Amino acid sequence: MNIGADGIGMTSLRTRERLIKRLREQGIREQGVLDAMLNIPRHLFVDEALASRAYEDTALPIAHNQTLSQPYIVARMTEAVLGGRARLRRALEIGTGSGYQTVILAAMVEEVYSVERIEPLLKQARRRIQQLGYRNVRLKLDDGSLGWPEYAPYDGIVVTAAADGVPDALVAQLAPGGRLVIPVTRGPAQELLLITVADGRVQTERLEGVNFVPLISRQPE
Ligand code: SAH
Repeated sequence: MNIGADGIGMTSLRTRERLIKRLREQGIREQGVLDAMLNIPRHLFVDEALASRAYEDTALPIAHNQTLSQPYIVARMTEAVLGGRARLRRALEIGTGSGYQTVILAAMVEEVYSVERIEPLLKQARRRIQQLGYRNVRLKLDDGSLGWPEYAPYDGIVVTAAADGVPDALVAQLAPGGRLVIPVTRGPAQELLLITVADGRVQTERLEGVNFVPLISRQPE
């Protein structure tokens, strides 16, 4: 057993297996997503004091008033962006935060690009991603609401902060058949949307109600 930071094995593989069982019960089916969440230690992405809670199905605070999403939401968004494809060539994430979602993507995507606007978060995420040995991730400090045009188009785009609307720049950076998963604020609530483009027409599917920190854009959309 892996004796974790708490000294009682709360970060062990067994604990992670329980989380995977719960994710299955909540309807997560994609084996690649379940495997990634089993193998990638979420407790390394939060403060040591929170490590023992890393495998509860709950969002956890990270620095600068940001949050690491609940495991179910990470799984749901990853499954939605894959859309039945076991692997993607290129994906873009907006809101690197702790880097946890970035690494989950990196387990199934050949090249992951991720943009974060808060420098200390980006630096810490970069260190963690390197320590875990993922070399297929490129990070950038910037306003991600404009995407990352240099490496577009992307087979999948995941936004992990709530936008006021779907930024045109992100839709424009989708490859044919690409999928954009984004939380959008609607009145007092937020909903997770899946955007696809078919025959030049943008299609929107509502996935579920969510609760994300806001996407802070430098430029108004
Ligand atoms: N995916 C992250 C979630 C972090 S919370 C994780 O797994 O930990 C959302 C993140 O989005 C925060 O770190 C916040 O700083 C970042 N963010 C908000 N607006 C942004 C913007 N316009 N561009 C890039 N990052 C942004």
